[in-house]
Amino acid sequence: MTNESNGRKKGKIIVVSAPSGCGKSTIINSILDSGQPELRFSVSATNRRPRPGEVDGVHYHFLTTEQFRDAIAEHKFIEWEEVYPGRFYGTLKSEIERIVDKGGNVILDIDCKGGINVKELYGDRALTIFFLPPSIEELRRRLIDRGTDAPDVIEERVGKAKFEISFADSFDCRVVNDNLDKAIDHTRELITDFIDKD
Ligand code: 5GP
Repeated sequence: MTNESNGRKKGKIIVVSAPSGCGKSTIINSILDSGQPELRFSVSATNRRPRPGEVDGVHYHFLTTEQFRDAIAEHKFIEWEEVYPGRFYGTLKSEIERIVDKGGNVILDIDCKGGINVKELYGDRALTIFFLPPSIEELRRRLIDRGTDAPDVIEERVGKAKFEISFADSFDCRVVNDNLDKAIDHTRELITDFIDKD
């Protein structure tokens, strides 16, 4: 894939990764809501069940495991990962094309391995940002307060968080979310600078 097509500059790819409970969705939604120019969310595909309030085609494209495997076989993904055992997530080529072909920039909320793969694929056209919690203890407290997961799932997420944080240095930038407003401002600044840069 190249940066230019028919002489028109193609969109930039912003990748955001974080252990769950770092406020990633809140930060992304705030930036999207504040009218960041031509920044659009890439809706991933997954075989996990929707959580209450999640809408198919908005939060994820919810697929069966068979549909997900078919999509892999048909090369429909730019990248995909088994983020949790038996739970698959992937970035659809069609999502990126849908946004970039209209001249937009894309924001991807994907796990750290996927983020590193997208950086390898897009190079300087991609900016990778990693959100860090102030501490593991604070992360566990936030997951408990969120109230969406059972205790064993929370421990699974904390274990996964420790693993993911070990990849933070492979990202272009790191943002510690110890104050939500400051983390939003910092992230918005990183994205704006990157989009404005030639
Ligand atoms: P959740 O189930 O909490 O929505 O997401 C679990 C994890 O999957 C998060 O770390 C999220 O960033 C990651 N994820 C979501 N979509 C994708 C994707 O398309 N590719 C990859 N590699 N990870 C994804």
